[in-house]
Amino acid sequence: MINTGNTPKKIKIYCVLVGILSFIILSIGGVFVNTNTVNKEKMRASFAAETTVNQIKSHISRYLGVSEYFRNMIESGYELSSEEFAFSAEMISDDYGIIKAIEMAPNGIIRDIYPLEGNKEAFGIDMLSNPARRYEANLAKDSGQYTIAGPYELNQGGLGALLFEPIYIEDSSTHRKFWGFSVLVLDWEKFIEELELEKLDDASYCYQIWKKDGSTQKKTIIAEGKQKLRKDALSVSCKVPNDTWYVEIVPYTGWLAARQKALTLLLILSISFLAVIICYQVLHRKYRERLYTAKIEKTAEQARMANEAKTRFLFNMSHDIRTPMNAIAGFCGLLEKNLQDEAKSRDYIKKIQISSDILLTIINQVLEMARIESGKVTLNLEPTDIREMVDAIHTVFESSLVQKSLEYQCSLNLQHPYILCDKTKVEEIILNIVSNSVKYTNPHGKISVTINEPESADEGSANYVIIVEDTGIGMSQDYLPHIFEEFSREHTTTENRVAGTGLGLPIVKSLVELMGGTIEVESEAGKGSHFIINLSFRTISRDEITGKQKPDISGIAEKLEGKRILLAEDNDLNAEIAETLLEEMKAEVIRAEDGNLCVDKLKEKPEGYFDMILMDIQMPNIDGYTATKMIRSLKDSKAQIPIVAMTANAYEEDRQKAHEAGMNGFIAKPLDVDEMIRVLGEIMKTGG
Ligand code: ADP
Repeated sequence: MINTGNTPKKIKIYCVLVGILSFIILSIGGVFVNTNTVNKEKMRASFAAETTVNQIKSHISRYLGVSEYFRNMIESGYELSSEEFAFSAEMISDDYGIIKAIEMAPNGIIRDIYPLEGNKEAFGIDMLSNPARRYEANLAKDSGQYTIAGPYELNQGGLGALLFEPIYIEDSSTHRKFWGFSVLVLDWEKFIEELELEKLDDASYCYQIWKKDGSTQKKTIIAEGKQKLRKDALSVSCKVPNDTWYVEIVPYTGWLAARQKALTLLLILSISFLAVIICYQVLHRKYRERLYTAKIEKTAEQARMANEAKTRFLFNMSHDIRTPMNAIAGFCGLLEKNLQDEAKSRDYIKKIQISSDILLTIINQVLEMARIESGKVTLNLEPTDIREMVDAIHTVFESSLVQKSLEYQCSLNLQHPYILCDKTKVEEIILNIVSNSVKYTNPHGKISVTINEPESADEGSANYVIIVEDTGIGMSQDYLPHIFEEFSREHTTTENRVAGTGLGLPIVKSLVELMGGTIEVESEAGKGSHFIINLSFRTISRDEITGKQKPDISGIAEKLEGKRILLAEDNDLNAEIAETLLEEMKAEVIRAEDGNLCVDKLKEKPEGYFDMILMDIQMPNIDGYTATKMIRSLKDSKAQIPIVAMTANAYEEDRQKAHEAGMNGFIAKPLDVDEMIRVLGEIMKTGG
């Protein structure tokens, strides 16, 4: 299973960059779109403002028509009497009632008013000197153009604006001379009403129409919308003679509604986030695909290598197994022909024994590697004196060392020689390494074993550094990295005439790692090799060792004399070996060919007839475990008969299974006479 939980930092950085980049690009896009919207809004507002301006201008020009009418009359030299003025003014229609009064003001003084009713108060006002009106009146007089004044409170009441139309006449010397004004008094409220400014409100605009007061120059608001004008309003000017009106306008929500701003931001963030997710998905997928491809390639490579190793193994094995097998078969043939010659016979038997030992080693190593690989191997700790172990190792190689004239040195620098360890496995580690040194060192070479114990921080533990050095053939630098690979060997048996499986060091490495240690190798072809193993053990006292010494088996064999043993064994050869060994000890052996027959034979005979059962485990019909369970469930005293397992499955878990099935002891095959005597003696002593 590929671990996809950890996203590589590179992918995270890419995603962040994509996020930032998308955010920037989208923000630019957003600003562009929003500016467009603002511009459109401004165009619309400007159009609305212009429409209002046009409306104002068109209204004013409509009223101008009225004032111009009287101006033209006077300018053409017509002397307009008050009655004629009243008659003409009455003729003028004003459907909307905006013209509150029409006034004639020769020399700026109001002399005629139509209608008089309601406007009497205006009579006699001197426009050119009246404080509220004189500014605009003089402007109109001086410029010769109509001028609007106001709005302000009228003398006759109400809010109104005055439209001054200056009138000039020609005197005798054709000089233009100021005659006075024709004045229109406009009802301001109705005038504004007629502009239909509420339409701007309906279109959700805030607006304000203002002008500067002629005399004070202060801002005078002419009209404004229901909502207060915002600061960012658009301003459109409306020029009228001698004055400028300003129309300021802006939508209620401003040029860009807050909602739209928020929406744009949300959209930008969402799309950026989406871009990050897509980028992550794509990159992560590619990453996973790459991982898968790499894994598949690695697996394929491993499979190929394993296959090559297996092929090599089969090739080596068939050679390495055949060699001792051929020797055994060959020497058996020779033995048969030379039975009369005792010296020759002994020599052949010795050679047969050596070959069978080699064969057994090969088979054991292959099986052990398989067990290690399946994770079945566990540590079986026992009190150990490391010095004794190293002595024993020397004994194992003594004859080979002498044979090859190898110099052997051993030095132990230990504070704590008593430790708790899996003795068999530690022995196996050192044996394997030393046996390699013996195998791969040419005659007259040197081998040294050193065990140092550096200071340990932990009171109750000892760190051992085991160093095995030799001046042997060494290894090439090309081969060194493969030294712990299963079935790997630098030279085949044919090349250097040294038998081996290529499994010793992989087993050593697995065992060292099982104990939590490390192993390192330094080697140079032609110069020698240097193995360093680091292992930690719990220390124990000397007292814990005593009592664990090998039991003395002298005298036990005699105790078996006359005992009746039921032997459950399906294999004839194995049965024969066991029968022969037991009969040598003067025991009586009755054989059963499988578990079923064993139980039957026990049942057939009276209680106490058999003293013990030797039970093989793998048998046809009923195996040893089942047979034991059946015997243990018998109702009479036969259920308590001592049962000893006798099996080629000699591992710790097999011992455990035998114990669980109710067996009292365990002997590994091939049978070791001393071990068999020891176990059977123990059973006899305890009586099961
Ligand atoms: P085997 O010895 O059965 O071939 P090992 O796994 O013990 O298998 O060793 C693997 C290979 O490592 C050997 O075949 C040999 O080529 C090399 N080797 C191991 N120990 C030594 C040594 N002390 N000197 C030289 N070569 C060695």
